Amino acid sequence: MNMVEPIKDKYGRPVESIRISVTERCNLNCIYCHNEGQMEAKTEMRAEEIEKILEIASRIGIKDVKFTGGEPLMRKDILDIIRAGRKYMEDVSMTTNGTLLAPVALKLKEAGLNRVNISMDSVERERYRKITGKDMVDRVKDAIKASVEAGLYPVKVNIVAFPDSFDDIFKTIEFVWSVNAMPQIIEAINVGRNKKLYAIDEIEKRIASMAVDVRVRKLHKRKIYSIVYDGKIREVEIVRPMHNSEFCANCNRIRLTSDGMLKPCIMHNRGLVDILTPLREGATDDELIALFKKAIMNRFPYWR
Ligand code: SAM
Repeated sequence: MNMVEPIKDKYGRPVESIRISVTERCNLNCIYCHNEGQMEAKTEMRAEEIEKILEIASRIGIKDVKFTGGEPLMRKDILDIIRAGRKYMEDVSMTTNGTLLAPVALKLKEAGLNRVNISMDSVERERYRKITGKDMVDRVKDAIKASVEAGLYPVKVNIVAFPDSFDDIFKTIEFVWSVNAMPQIIEAINVGRNKKLYAIDEIEKRIASMAVDVRVRKLHKRKIYSIVYDGKIREVEIVRPMHNSEFCANCNRIRLTSDGMLKPCIMHNRGLVDILTPLREGATDDELIALFKKAIMNRFPYWR
């Protein structure tokens, strides 16, 4: 248990978690991808560099890590990276497209991964292929099942909402529930304003009308709706990052790009702090802690 109090930014928001892109390489080419707001990478952090940064993060009260990318499973040393997370963080999670996940789900669990988010915008083969550029939806479905079997918990399935995805989303949600995973509907960032309003508003309205209960997560004040399906209570989470001041007011994370820049927010590139170059040049722990604090103080709520 990390007893260090998290540092608060200038807006009083404690920074308790870090989202690390471990590579910008990916085997899919999703039409809408924001690449975690990262610009083209100049280099890629080594596993031991990620470990050192996590050690420093733990010393300023950061308790949770989410590994992302690019596609994190493109890294041959992903198990080392997960072990590094396990060593310093209370919660270790990963966001993956799932195409390479099924054969390694158990190994990831054994290395210390607690939970996983798997991206599958559609359960339908042709639609999935159009969105991602690859005919790989079966692999992703297998990965969801393998992750549940491996004991990763919860297994969440990220589904980005598009204006024409109304009916398809419900088929995808039903598949996710049927294999005991949890769907998470994500509002698309940086698509046309009207499109986004239609997509997420209509989908959330329909979900809310079916719900028997709703609770609110601490992170981003995200809503989780409970719905009775097939005689059981199932859940679906809604993530609304756009034009949402509550989302920003309840953001507790800092980001790290795959080339080692601390990044205050996905939505913009102001206030980036290079931590990798000083680390490679032999910076002391105190100097690295100071860089973290600088990046935290560069945070501001994007939507107010
Ligand atoms: N390759 C991994 C994956 O597919 O999960 C990790 C990286 S991906 C950028 C992380 C998550 O961001 C995915 O769930 C993806 O659907 C989501 N995402 C990408 N572009 C987005 C956008 N423009 N708006 C909302 N979510 C987006």
